[in-house]
Amino acid sequence: MIIDCHGHYTTTPPGHNQFREAQIARLADPNLPEPDRPTIGDDEIIASIEQNQLKLLEERGADLTIFSPRASWMGHHIGDDATSQVWARQCNDMIHRVVTLFPENFAGVCMLPQSPGVPIEHSLDELERCVNDLGFVGCNLNPDPSGGHWTAAPLIDESWFPLYEKMVELDIPAMIHVSASDNVNFHATGAHYMNADTTAFMQLIQGDLFGVFPDLRFVIPHGGGAVPYHWGRYRGLAEGLGKPPLGEHLMRNVFFDTCVYHQPGITLLFDVLDTDNILFASEMVGAVPGIDPTTGFHFDDTKRYVDALDLSEADSAKVFEGNARRVYPRLDAALAATGR
Ligand SMILES: [Zn+2]
Repeated sequence: MIIDCHGHYTTTPPGHNQFREAQIARLADPNLPEPDRPTIGDDEIIASIEQNQLKLLEERGADLTIFSPRASWMGHHIGDDATSQVWARQCNDMIHRVVTLFPENFAGVCMLPQSPGVPIEHSLDELERCVNDLGFVGCNLNPDPSGGHWTAAPLIDESWFPLYEKMVELDIPAMIHVSASDNVNFHATGAHYMNADTTAFMQLIQGDLFGVFPDLRFVIPHGGGAVPYHWGRYRGLAEGLGKPPLGEHLMRNVFFDTCVYHQPGITLLFDVLDTDNILFASEMVGAVPGIDPTTGFHFDDTKRYVDALDLSEADSAKVFEGNARRVYPRLDAALAATGR
């Protein structure tokens, strides 16, 4: 089967979106009533998925998407701890409803109710609820809940360790994924996302996180940001910092996806990285849904680029399925339980 490890619910029904708008409006005017959680019919959810993510999944020949709330709307920088707790629960419940309605095609990944300056311990209850009660297979971790101001400690700092301990206990990976940009210098999907992917990798080089947590696993999306293109720089920096070669230092625990929207980028990704470290993904319906006029195909139809590499059968099986099942063991178990 073909697993796409990176998709977001960007097409949520209006009630969900209006709830968020009302929540934000109340931050500006506390005299407004606290909005009620929206009532959204199954028919609305089915239509929003069938006409979008599921349609594209089937057209492009994939089987299952690892699905999480719309990343740019996580908005951890908006409001406070209480705001994020309510919003995360709402968003994660929407993912759970999609997975319940389309169990063959979607597996859930949660957002965390992070908020700037709030200890990561405050995110653990929601994480446990999503994994233990809702059957989610991973989480998205925002390394910069301030939305582009980078006020949190680096990912190698001990303040993050309670989350990592919980992830190891639950045997789930995290995708490192920022949200919207609150900094006009950083376009959200064009700069902030790419910066964060690259920044996270460099932070990991600077520490020894996987010496402390040998079973911790991170997926860095968008092909690892600038990292594969600058692989020599990062190898050299690691050496200069007295770290082991990247293969030992990070690459047993860090994985990149294939959300790179042109052939030369995918070709480079596979030239540089071992196929054990690459998970197929497209991030649709996402940042770049348009059609590339030079190819006539959608920019984010990444399966075409991977197919064009003409990988061996063994490598292809790893990238499209095996690596995802290894990195997300709860997904593997859920699939195995249904004979897949
Ligand atoms: Zn994403």
